[in-house]
Amino acid sequence: MLPDIYKKSIYDIDYVKLKKEGITCLIFDLDNTLGNVNQMSVPLKTRKLIKNLQKDFLVLIISNNFKTRIKPYLETLGVGGVSFALKPFNFSLIKIKRNYKLSKKEMVIIGDQLITDVLCGKSFNIKTILVDPYGDNDYRITKLNRILENFILNRYEKKGKFKRGVYYG
Ligand SMILES: [Mg+2]
Repeated sequence: MLPDIYKKSIYDIDYVKLKKEGITCLIFDLDNTLGNVNQMSVPLKTRKLIKNLQKDFLVLIISNNFKTRIKPYLETLGVGGVSFALKPFNFSLIKIKRNYKLSKKEMVIIGDQLITDVLCGKSFNIKTILVDPYGDNDYRITKLNRILENFILNRYEKKGKFKRGVYYG
C-alpha cells in the first residue's frame, strides 16, 4: 500500500526522472494536491508547473469531487479530467487508459491521500506518488479518510517502513 515515491509537494517531484522512466501521462488528484480545498482558483505556482509539464506529458486530473469543483481547474489549466471518480475504485483509470491508448507503464497517479489516490493506482498496477496535503483544511469525508490513513501510516511507521516527512523516490 505504500507509494512508489513520496514527496513534500507536486513541486518537489522529479519529472525529468519520470520522463526517463517512460512515464507519458501524469494523473493528478485535485483537492490538497494541486491546490487548497477551499480555494476555487488555481494557485499561480500550480499553473506555471502544469503549463511546463504539458510540454512533455499528457496531464490529467481525476477527482472524487463534483464537476462544478473540477471545471475551473480544467479550464484554467487546459487539461482533461474526470470528476466524481470514486477513487479508490479504478474505473477512471481504466477509462483514461482506453481513451488515450496508454499502457500502464506510461501512467502515474499523484495525490495526497493514501486510501484514495495511492490505493487507486496500486489496484490498477501503475506508479503512485504520495504528496503531503497542500493545505491544512480537509473536507469532512476526507477527515474520516485521514483517521484510517493515520492508523495505517502509524503501523508502517512502527515497523520502520515509512516515516511522514521522510521523502523518497
Ligand atoms: Mg486530495
